[in-house]
Amino acid sequence: MRFRNKPWAKDYIAENAFYCIPNPEEHKGKWAALFGNSNPIHIEVGTGKGTFITEMAKANPDINYIGIELFESVIVKALERAVTADIPNVKLLNVDAKKLTEIFEKGEVNQVYLNFSDPWPKGRHEKRRLTYKDFLDLYKTVLVEQGEIHFKTDNRGLFEYSLMSFSSYGLLLKYVSLDLHNSDYEGNIMTEYEEKFSSLGQPIYRCEVKYQD
Ligand code: SAM
Repeated sequence: MRFRNKPWAKDYIAENAFYCIPNPEEHKGKWAALFGNSNPIHIEVGTGKGTFITEMAKANPDINYIGIELFESVIVKALERAVTADIPNVKLLNVDAKKLTEIFEKGEVNQVYLNFSDPWPKGRHEKRRLTYKDFLDLYKTVLVEQGEIHFKTDNRGLFEYSLMSFSSYGLLLKYVSLDLHNSDYEGNIMTEYEEKFSSLGQPIYRCEVKYQD
């Protein structure tokens, strides 16, 4: 994702700490208390500008959503959306997903979404892919037993790699589509990248995988 430096981002984030949570490690094991209820927690890793997470939160008020994004200059757009939507069941974290186990207790998360993750096509960058086995370890730790990952991408190479990575890890493939927008899947909420690539006529790949005991 290309982004410009936004000098106002830091202040805006600090002013909106209800939505973009500072020091998320302090809430490890206590996210239910922060939300004020014990509803399931779904996280999106690499949330970008936040269309998916805020629209999901509006559509599913009984689920708590947490968007995780590495770059301040990107998450600030998601934050603007959350502030405008003015809904209590979405929070944003400006952190690297490598820190997931410092932020969530074992089994604290009910579902993981990965949407249009950076493909990192060069072999030497494999470890940066959010479907690399080290990330699958992190998701497994924070997820409930038999928790699921829902993954969408326009990138065929990343999709093939990820299916192999999920399979080698022993994840159960529950659903797969090689053309989501021409499938019978209902209730799809588009991300920014999905809008962009599908408008260019590219098929969208999607799968749901589940951890086994
Ligand atoms: N999910 C959005 C969408 O579908 O429109 C954004 C997709 S964009 C290609 C991928 C996003 O993942 C970028 O904003 C990037 O900064 C973020 N990202 C990549 N690696 C990350 C990591 N380790 N932790 C948190 N965010 C990450």
